[in-house]
Parts: sequence; C-alpha cells; structure tokens
Amino acid sequence: MSWSNWSGSVAASGQVARPRSEDELAMLVRSAQKLRATGAGHSFMPLCESRELIVSLDDMPGALRVAADRRTARIPAGWSIRRLTAALWEEGLALANQGDVNPQALAGAMATGTHGTGAGLGSLSTFAQGFRLTGADGEAHWCDAATNADLFQAQRLSLGLFGVATEIDVAVVPAFHLAERIEKRRWAEVRESYEELTQQHRHVEFWFFPHSDQVILKTLDLCDPCDPPPRTTDMEETAFRRVLEVAARAPFLTPWLQRAMMRTTIKGDRRGPAHSIFPSDRTLRFEEMEYEMPRGAGLETLDEVVGWIRRKRLPVTFPFEYRVVAADDIWMSPMNAGPVAAISMHQYAKMPWQRLFADAEAIFRGAGGRPHWAKRHTLGRADVAALYPMAGRYIATRRAADPHGKFLNPHLESLFA
Ligand SMILES: Cc1cc2nc3c(=O)[nH]c(=O)nc-3n(C[C@H](O)[C@H](O)[C@H](O)COP(=O)(O)OP(=O)(O)OC[C@H]3O[C@@H](n4cnc5c(N)ncnc54)[C@H](O)[C@@H]3O)c2cc1C
Repeated sequence: MSWSNWSGSVAASGQVARPRSEDELAMLVRSAQKLRATGAGHSFMPLCESRELIVSLDDMPGALRVAADRRTARIPAGWSIRRLTAALWEEGLALANQGDVNPQALAGAMATGTHGTGAGLGSLSTFAQGFRLTGADGEAHWCDAATNADLFQAQRLSLGLFGVATEIDVAVVPAFHLAERIEKRRWAEVRESYEELTQQHRHVEFWFFPHSDQVILKTLDLCDPCDPPPRTTDMEETAFRRVLEVAARAPFLTPWLQRAMMRTTIKGDRRGPAHSIFPSDRTLRFEEMEYEMPRGAGLETLDEVVGWIRRKRLPVTFPFEYRVVAADDIWMSPMNAGPVAAISMHQYAKMPWQRLFADAEAIFRGAGGRPHWAKRHTLGRADVAALYPMAGRYIATRRAADPHGKFLNPHLESLFA
C-alpha cells in the first residue's frame, strides 16, 4: 500500500505496516534499516517519508487510563485527537486546547508542536507528561521529567526521531463547554484591537484574505452547558470551493474574487462540548507554511506580507490564519523564546505554492520567525543550529537514542544528522 500525506504533496514508496501489538512493533523496528512512524499524515513536510518502512499505530489495541488525581491520563499514542477527546469527555475531562482539526494522532500532533490559539495556552506538546517509546533497538523505554530526562525533553517535540511512541501521559482538565462566534470585521478595526481581544477571549483568531479589507474573526469562550444548542454555522464552503476553482483557472481574478466573497454574509454561532467546537472540517485541500513570530512582531509582519501580495497582485487564494500561542521551554519548540503570533499562509493545493512560499519565508525569517516543523519551510542544519540554542543537546540525544540513524530520512538528515 502506498503512502501520501493529506495535501498530496508528499508520497512515499515505503511499505506501510500496522502492528497489532508492542511485540509486533518491536520485531518491525529490529528488522528495519530505516523506519518512520506516521499518524494521520497531516504534515506538509516529508516527515513520514521512507523508502523502506512506515509504521502506523492505527491497529494497536489500547485503552484510556485516567490517573487517580484526574490531572493526567495515559493514552494510546496512535489514537486520533478526535477519539481521545471523545473518550476524555466520557470521563468528564478534556484537553485544555486543540488545533483547527482533530484527525491527527496524539503522537503525531505532539511530535510537531501542533497548537491552537490562546494567549495563555501552550501547544499540545506542552501537555505531554511522559512517553512509552519503542527505541531503535526494539526495546520499550519510559521517559518523563524524572526518568530518562534528556530523552523526555527531546521527545516532547520529537519529529519521530527518538523511537515509536506507544503510550503518552497527557495533562487533562475538567470538561468544559465553549461558545464559538464567527463574524466579519474590518481589518483596520481588528488590527487596532487585537491585543485587547486576546485578553477578552479564551481563544481568538482571524482569517484574512489578502486582497480584502475585511477579516473573519473567530472567538471561543467558556459557556454554560445549559446554553441553547447550535444556531448557525461556518462560512459557506461550496461558495469558497467555486471561487478556488475559478482562481485555479484564472489566477489574475483572485483579488476580485476575494473581495466579492467577503461581501457575502459570514456569521456563525455554535455552542457545545469543547471537543466538538474546537475542530472544523477541512475538505478543501491546501498547502501550508506557518511561521511563529515573536508576539510583538506578528501584526507588522502580517502587514508586510499582505502588502507585498497586494502590490504584486499575487494569486494567494486561501486566507492567512493568525493565532497566538503561549511560551514554553521545549528544546525544539518555536515557542521557546517567548509567546508567539502564528501566521499561517495557505495556497489551494491545485495551484503553485513553491515560489510564493519562498518569497514570503524571507519576510518571516527577516522578522525573527521560526517555522512550524510540520509545515513548509526551507531550513537546513546551519539554520537549526543558529535558531535553537538547545539543538546540540537535541542532536546528541538523538545520536544516543538512535546511533545508526534508523529513524532518519533524507529531510530529517538535512536538519539533525
Ligand atoms: C487540515 C490541517 C489542519 C491543521 N491544523 C493545525 C493546527 O490547527 N495547528 C497546528 O499546529 N498544526 C495544524 N496542522 C498540522 C498538523 O497538526 C501536524 O502536521 C501534525 O503533526 C499532524 O499529525 P499526524 O498524526 O497527521 O502526524 P504525521 O504527519 O503523520 O506525523 C508527524 C510527525 O509525527 C511523528 N509520529 C507520528 N506518530 C508517531 C509515533 N507513534 N511515535 C513517534 N513519532 C510519531 C512522525 O514520524 C512525524 O515526524 C494541520 C494540518 C492539516 C493538514
């Protein structure tokens, strides 16, 4: 069976194996020269690419176990965020934050520093408390802040370099309900009040079509479970699909199409259990680059990128997404130097993105940004060393865990070998 990622931009010739037990996984790991673990294949970079073996934990049995203090839960690492948040809900528990979608495997999401939005909320990697890993020798190891501490620190954002995670201890919180509001606002107004908005709402983000003066503002706040059920829904996807198809055939129409689309009604209100409100359906395929900017440089950098797209009338068909994430202390996390503004740039998967992303990347890099590891970037080994003070320790820990480079592929070799 062949493997490709969600957007279709990465294909791998390696065989896909779905072990049904830890013993079977150990045998696969021992016998392979080269092996990559995969979750839901939602990464845009060739992180899971392998010419030999790709291991998916989709068929591994396992169950959720909640700790006695109800602050952590041990979760099969291959479970999707969708499955685990539904199971947590049954226990009266939740993740404190989630990203835009929920098909990702827990291990896959944590391995790349996947995040949502919220000034006081860190990435999913910050929720990790411990990992059970099948190492390069096929043996199972446990690591947490006290046991195999360096391995744990590296594994919190691992890119799959240290072994195959089979179970993860995750910080959890009491279950909560969320109210979502989506509305169209003038860009100038949102730009002016964004910092205030991040203080007023538990979660705030906006979507910005670069050729329009309006943005789609989305807020999420805690609400009472007795509040009324969902009323209206998200922006009309069929209309957007049509716009994309026209833009793919006639890119020069992109500015006009975006302004026309933003004149339509865009409004939504939903309420419900947090895990059902955090994720959206993403059926329109895109390619994505995301840079985590120092929080204070975020809006200015967005102005600069959008200004460049407008001046050149570039056919960037998808909106930018703008979110905030709290600082953390994870060795390879782009949030480890302070709180960030995460700017995501997307392009319709059927349209060229390489040149656009390369030019925008120069702006993001110039303003002190560091990329999301799962999304398009062109960093090399020297950039990693320059951008991450803990890179040396990360690489030394990788060498100790995997001396023969079993878990490396060409992309990861170019960064961490
Ligand atoms: C539609 C869409 C929406 C997205 N929304 C967001 C968002 O809101 N916020 C955000 O930050 N990112 C977002 N992303 C990026 C996405 O969350 C990351 O790419 C994430 O890593 C995908 O998880 P996955 O299970 O698909 O992992 P994969 O892409 O399959 O793998 C990612 C990494 O995890 C490793 N890995 C997977 N399983 C294991 C395991 N068991 N043991 C060890 N290593 C393992 C792989 O080797 C690889 O290095 C989005 C992507 C898409 C396509």
